[in-house]
Amino acid sequence: AAMKLKNKGSVTVQVVVRCRPLNKKELGEDRKPIISIDENQVSIVKGIGKDGHIMSEEENKATKKSFTFDAAYDEQSTQKQFYEESCYPLVESVMEGFNGTIFAYGQTGCGKTWTMMGPPSPLELRGVIPSSFDHIFENIKTTTDCEFLVRCSYLEIYNEEIRDLLGDDPKARCELKEDPSKGVYVKGLSNVVVNDEATINKVMEKGLKHRTTGATLMNEGSSRSHSIFTVVLEMNRKDEGGKDHFTMGKLNLVDLAGSERQSKTGASGDRLKEGCKINLSLSALGNVISALVDGKGKHIPYRDSKLTRLLQDSLGGNTKTLMMAAVSPADYNYDETLSTLRYANRAK
Ligand code: ADP
Ligand code: MG
Repeated sequence: AAMKLKNKGSVTVQVVVRCRPLNKKELGEDRKPIISIDENQVSIVKGIGKDGHIMSEEENKATKKSFTFDAAYDEQSTQKQFYEESCYPLVESVMEGFNGTIFAYGQTGCGKTWTMMGPPSPLELRGVIPSSFDHIFENIKTTTDCEFLVRCSYLEIYNEEIRDLLGDDPKARCELKEDPSKGVYVKGLSNVVVNDEATINKVMEKGLKHRTTGATLMNEGSSRSHSIFTVVLEMNRKDEGGKDHFTMGKLNLVDLAGSERQSKTGASGDRLKEGCKINLSLSALGNVISALVDGKGKHIPYRDSKLTRLLQDSLGGNTKTLMMAAVSPADYNYDETLSTLRYANRAK
């Protein structure tokens, strides 16, 4: 997949799609793939007719819809390839003092966490988050004219409530505050200084554990919450005259809540309310990104959700954003997959 950087004013937004392989269960049920990827173009066909019959090639052709993105990754794409092509340049920018954000969007089960985190082993399957740690600390090790201070935080937004995943009580709610000098911030959020890769990985694992503890309590909670791992880099470069030059870069790594439509999951009561809040914050994010991409001094509706308020200083202005939309190739996911492609297409 070839990368084309899209510069729209000072905002750089990239949108990429990644399709997971059919899983064992789907193969066992003889599910048909309905996604095809050609360079940076993603096409979808309907696959199953209204009466439930498997469509012929001819019938499928008539239902085909195609979308073009900055890059598209098929089921054979590797974690390494994804990181190097789509994430590496963004993390490099953060090390030059930009704020950057990587989002994973999509229906539950389509590869958001796989792409962002990956399995604990082997190393070559690790996802964007641990790969970025490796990248950052490798860079620090080989940079001699600059001092670095690395801090990180990890939080979850569940039901429009913020929880500190690195705090002592991961169930405690945190408040979002606004300050004329500090901007928007989370009151009392743990900020951990990390000096090496091993430590930041441990911090991440601690947060992950807190995430799952919460999750059993609220059932499959992790698919219903957004998680944000943030790495803040403070850099002090000395010039030839020995003068200090301070810069700061911030990297936000966001595993979004599942985008599936709640009306279809048969949810009711509290679950339905939760679902509505998820849909609301995802559409607020879509609106912010598409307003940024449109430019023209448009009003950017940051205030519509906790997620967009929290990320306000990393969305817009001199920032970089990567939106990864994860999709399933299977025919029975047609509606959700099409809706994910449309969401991603709007964010371009
Ligand atoms: P999500 O976080 O979007 O709900 P996951 O990332 O947990 O979904 O993906 C569900 C499962 O699908 C993973 O555990 C993994 O087995 C498989 N999977 C997803 N994406 C890929 C991929 N690109 N390559 C191989 N397996 C994948
Ligand atoms: Mg997940």
